[in-house]
Amino acid sequence: MSKISNILLIYTGGTIGMVKDYETNALRAFDFSNLRDRIPELNHLDCKINTISFEEPIDSSNMNPKYWVKITEIIEENYNDADGFVILTGSDTMAYTSSAISFMLENLSKPVIFTGSQLPIGDLRTDAKENLITAIQIASARKNGKPRINEVCLYFEYKLYRANRTTKVNSEHFEAFASPNFPHIAESGVHLKFEEHLLITHKSRKKLTIRKNINDNIVILKLFPGMSLISIESILNIDKLQGVILETYGSGNATTSKKFIALLKNAINKGIQIINVTQCNSGSVILGQYETSTELKNIGLISGKDITTEAAVAKLMYLLGQNIPKMNFKKIFETSLRGEITE
Ligand code: ASP
Repeated sequence: MSKISNILLIYTGGTIGMVKDYETNALRAFDFSNLRDRIPELNHLDCKINTISFEEPIDSSNMNPKYWVKITEIIEENYNDADGFVILTGSDTMAYTSSAISFMLENLSKPVIFTGSQLPIGDLRTDAKENLITAIQIASARKNGKPRINEVCLYFEYKLYRANRTTKVNSEHFEAFASPNFPHIAESGVHLKFEEHLLITHKSRKKLTIRKNINDNIVILKLFPGMSLISIESILNIDKLQGVILETYGSGNATTSKKFIALLKNAINKGIQIINVTQCNSGSVILGQYETSTELKNIGLISGKDITTEAAVAKLMYLLGQNIPKMNFKKIFETSLRGEITE
């Protein structure tokens, strides 16, 4: 007889567990213990569910690396007892949070599934029930006694995505997320259909290592035609700055202005890591494809390839926290660590 899975449900906050404040009409987080009362179906799932809630649930706009560490610590403390984890957060910053957790959990060999909802659980037309119930089923899915999923994923509106490939694309539709450069890895229809060939599998049996050191001395610098060099210069001179996600045009292009290139070169010489990420919704940076990216390549910009901005932020904060020798940083960033870029 196969063993019943033990799932740990971690509630951090977000619409899924919110109620309307009738005085102000605004949504606010409510006591998580009510969640089970609101979804009695949870008691009928073929798995054991334990729940842990943040003492003070947060809207995901207040998410930050301290909470990322808190999530990884809960996973660490329960890693031996739980067969899988479902993490409920607000959808607004879920792509960032789940990307960060994917880097912070090294050698993960159990499912960690993020989900949330667009409508609160009490709403008649809520998407919360389906998202939550299916996320739990995915976290408990096993094949030959082993978990089907060994990575950090995001489940929303019938699709399971690799978390560090996702981006929130819609603030109203139930289909709120997309994974522009990597296909979904499972789909929920009449059956749960896993795309086996896309799943991360672990050949070695290395022990889970939790990396809690996160360095937040970074900025996102999004270029636009007409952006003043003064703004760029002052951003690059921010005290303690160690990393920049430079959002460029198309396949990694930017102005060829000598002054602009000199500002970037100066920053790189000071030891600031600059990652070239495209502003396009999909596709990849290809440094040197156009003349407008040749100089960026020559001065040592790091190619984000087809990484999302969310995963680039998480990866940069994570890698800057790992004391990697400066000379190896570029190579490591350009390597896929958790399936976040196509190599
Ligand atoms: N503002 C909410 C949050 O991100 C939206 C949601 O839960 O989807 O926390």
